[in-house]
Amino acid sequence: MSAEPLPVIRNFVGGTFAEPDEERCLTKTAPATGTPLAQVHEADRTLVDRAVRSARGALADGWAHTPVRERTALLRRAADLIEQRFEEFVAAEVGDTGKPVTQARELDVARAIANFRTFADIVAAAGQDSYLTDLPDGRQALNYAVRKPLGVVAVIVPWNLPLLLLTWKVAPALACGNAVVVKPSEETPSTAALLAEVLADAGLPAGAYNVVHGFGAGSAGEFLVTHPGVDGITFTGSSATGTAVMRAAAPGVRPVSFELGGKNAAIVFDDVDVDEALDGLCRSVFTNTGQVCLCTERVYVHRAVFTDIVDGLAERAGRLRLGDPFSAHTTTGPLISQEHRRKVLRYFDLAEQAGAKVVTGGGTPHLGPALDGGAWIEPTLWTGLTNADRPVREEIFGPVAALIPFDTEEEAIALANDTDYGLAAAVWTNDLRRGHRVAQRMDVGMAWVNTWFLRDLRSPFGGAGLSGIGREGGASSLHFYTEPTNVCVQL
Ligand code: NAD
Repeated sequence: MSAEPLPVIRNFVGGTFAEPDEERCLTKTAPATGTPLAQVHEADRTLVDRAVRSARGALADGWAHTPVRERTALLRRAADLIEQRFEEFVAAEVGDTGKPVTQARELDVARAIANFRTFADIVAAAGQDSYLTDLPDGRQALNYAVRKPLGVVAVIVPWNLPLLLLTWKVAPALACGNAVVVKPSEETPSTAALLAEVLADAGLPAGAYNVVHGFGAGSAGEFLVTHPGVDGITFTGSSATGTAVMRAAAPGVRPVSFELGGKNAAIVFDDVDVDEALDGLCRSVFTNTGQVCLCTERVYVHRAVFTDIVDGLAERAGRLRLGDPFSAHTTTGPLISQEHRRKVLRYFDLAEQAGAKVVTGGGTPHLGPALDGGAWIEPTLWTGLTNADRPVREEIFGPVAALIPFDTEEEAIALANDTDYGLAAAVWTNDLRRGHRVAQRMDVGMAWVNTWFLRDLRSPFGGAGLSGIGREGGASSLHFYTEPTNVCVQL
């Protein structure tokens, strides 16, 4: 009996799925099992060029000038259509990433729908800046800025929250009248392809949304960001890739929006409700197997509660249920790939060499023959490390954290800010004033107090330092995805 042929995932260019080129196919494997999932058509330079030209064509054919009410209605239809095909999106996301099905339902796909609806609301309600200028002769001038789409926007996204991050960029870009060429991660091609069907069914004109699959350097990612027909680049991924993309964006002086890596701190004061803080820490360290840019990898704990927090977090880590991602009982999936697992395991070695005490985890679990080919890893906690050690300085992007004691508020702030990254921080305290005070002093884009990853999509999102350039979310997205023309009228 011959094996079933694998499904083929195609590029989407100019409103149709391109015929696959057998020569350029990559095999996507399931992270949970290591078995092949799909053949993905890798876009070559010619196809990427066609995608960019199609996007330009859609703008010229009128998409850029579509009335806002039509564009926002289209976004709402897209949200409704994702809702109708909810379980299909969930299955695609779980298959590609191995993340637990409950998370895909409650976070990834739910947020994709919210992204379309929220940006429809935001764009529908947006006004424009205007100023009345007093002139020396007593007359006045009226200044007002009209916002135009940026043009053809390259959207490059990673594998950890594929649909959530894709729609976080595509929804505002389309709402503002841009055409997009998206390059999903080679690890997670499926939901970007499903979204192509949804947007076409919602009535998006051909060419306004294109998908090119492939890798970064020497492949679709590089072909896209170096294409002179791209007017702006929005990129989420690692800080190292961000550097390469920035170099590629320099000719033509194209604007970039960068959401990059993090090495996020949590600070736990001795006045906390220990159980509540532990629940929050458990989420912030282990959600999505630690593969969220916002995840906590450094936990600074007041010495008075250090043992309680270390023991309590280890106990909660022990309660996580690794297993079949499609089971509603599973809380924790695998890492995205064997390659990523090798990277995380290198940090396990480095931590041991630096003298870490492994409080829990530190290895790879055995989950039975069906899952042993997957990229599984044990949730891991260390004590005994300092800010000088590489596992405390470098982004690991796995279910790991180093717990480090402190004695004073000033010391905690200094330790948390002692990093080249600047994405997110979480402060755990029952002292209201201290919560505000410390959160405001975090050198990060987002600081939470007594919570983590609680997002209002109207608020700015992004990071400082190695964590990025610019902000998206709410009005910040509208600013990135549009170009203002100021009109000054002498009255
Ligand atoms: P990555 O940088 O390896 O890849 C991201 C995307 O860029 C992929 O689609 C990849 O194919 C593409 N790419 C790689 N090289 C390229 C090149 N030279 N030119 C153009 N495109 C290229 O990141 P990853 O491993 O997929 O994702 C994990 C990283 O993403 C982590 O560092 C994480 O912190 C970060 N991240 C940040 C945020 C945020 O909002 N700040 C959110 C999620 C993930």
